[in-house]
Amino acid sequence: MSYEPVIGLEVHAQLQTRSKMFCRCSTQYAGAEPNTHICPICAGFPGVLPVVNRRAVELATRVGLALNCEISPSSRFDRKHYPYPDLPKGYQTSQYDLPLALRGHVTLGDNGQQRRIGIVRVHMEEDTGRLLHRSSPSGEVYSLVDLNRSGVPLLEIVSEPDIRSAVEAREYVTKLRQVLRYIEASTGNMEEGALRCDANVSVRPVGQAEYGAKVEIKNLNSTRAIERAIEYEIRRQIEALESGDGVRQETRGWDDAAGVTLGQRGKEYASDYRYFPEPDLPPLTMSESRRGEIHRGLAELPDARRERFVALYGLTPQDAADLTLTRETADYYEAVVAELREAAPARLAANWVRGPLFGLVNRDNLAITDARVSPKLLAELLRMLHDGEVNATAAREMLEETYRTGRSPREVAVERGLMQVSDASALGPVVRAVLERNPKAVADFRKGKQQVVGFLIGQVMRETKGTASQDTARTLLLEELSGSQAGAP
Ligand SMILES: [Zn+2]
Repeated sequence: MSYEPVIGLEVHAQLQTRSKMFCRCSTQYAGAEPNTHICPICAGFPGVLPVVNRRAVELATRVGLALNCEISPSSRFDRKHYPYPDLPKGYQTSQYDLPLALRGHVTLGDNGQQRRIGIVRVHMEEDTGRLLHRSSPSGEVYSLVDLNRSGVPLLEIVSEPDIRSAVEAREYVTKLRQVLRYIEASTGNMEEGALRCDANVSVRPVGQAEYGAKVEIKNLNSTRAIERAIEYEIRRQIEALESGDGVRQETRGWDDAAGVTLGQRGKEYASDYRYFPEPDLPPLTMSESRRGEIHRGLAELPDARRERFVALYGLTPQDAADLTLTRETADYYEAVVAELREAAPARLAANWVRGPLFGLVNRDNLAITDARVSPKLLAELLRMLHDGEVNATAAREMLEETYRTGRSPREVAVERGLMQVSDASALGPVVRAVLERNPKAVADFRKGKQQVVGFLIGQVMRETKGTASQDTARTLLLEELSGSQAGAP
């Protein structure tokens, strides 16, 4: 029997705000001593009054819009109860039955093969604190509570169970992260915990309509872990079904080192959380005009930008996808094109940005914005290349030097003698010298062997260390050859 996996993902993303969700504590606690970015509100003291962070609502709305969701004109915060030492209030302030955004989708793949993954909801909540596990010299294990993270604005993005493979799950999270970064809603850095993922995985026989028992895999902290954990879980569930044991609905953890999921506890149901409306916060209203304002302020999204690059600059879909992978590289590329002012084709700029320049930047693990080759300098280089002032080999050498030092490519070319010689009076003597040294080639040409011209151009290039213009060299060679032919006895 063949089986089909059914996968839905819950992604948590920290919003890029300066202060926390319901208090004025700073979110810039990375590297700080534990419990130095806290106040009575985020430390869960009784009797305090939370206030909603306006910026967090704006960023969450951006995400909803970017994921093609409907934005609720009125949403609400609820208390989600569960006891855990990193949750000082004993409940998390979250959104339950009236979330901020509903019914959206993410599109995977490009024009060739597109897949749409539905988004059930996007809601706001607050992050929890963290537990630090320590062991004493005598070997006793104990835990410390750090509340610096408690109350950081968090978004939960819940997908429909539309995902059908581990690879697709990885693509979905990668795409989500790209969108979040484009609209500057979240850093999306999984290694820092700014983006976390839980996966709901079940399998069913192909053709069966109802879902199999669902297993939730918690806290997947890299795109690679997402793919590996789901891959493993699909295999495990199929084996459990085939052996007749069946699959138990439960929560499992991912052991990255061992490469296995491990049972943790029975799955909670919504009713376990005793949700009720947060009495300390008024309903959250989003007027039509405010929604429109946020919509107008939304950055161009990756898909739209990719399609525009194809249409406007004549790029291949693959080039356009590579250049729009991050907003920074897309901005960089468009700055180069703007600097060129049509003095060289946009296609040429695309080849040089995603080829040689990406090569250097990736080698050194640099952001393109940190490279010393500014769009202006790259445009200068490309213009010289396109105008035939330098050849491609020389241009690469110039790029490396400009990348290293930030110096003008023209300056580098002049200093290193890389400028192409296309001046007939300068190349003429070289051409004549080459002909004199190669009487056999000249004789072959006279017998009608046209291909020796290529060999002779090669000799001219060698003589000029590659700086001769090939076109000028060819013209001069043909002139000399036909001249000497005419003058022959
Ligand atoms: Zn606080």
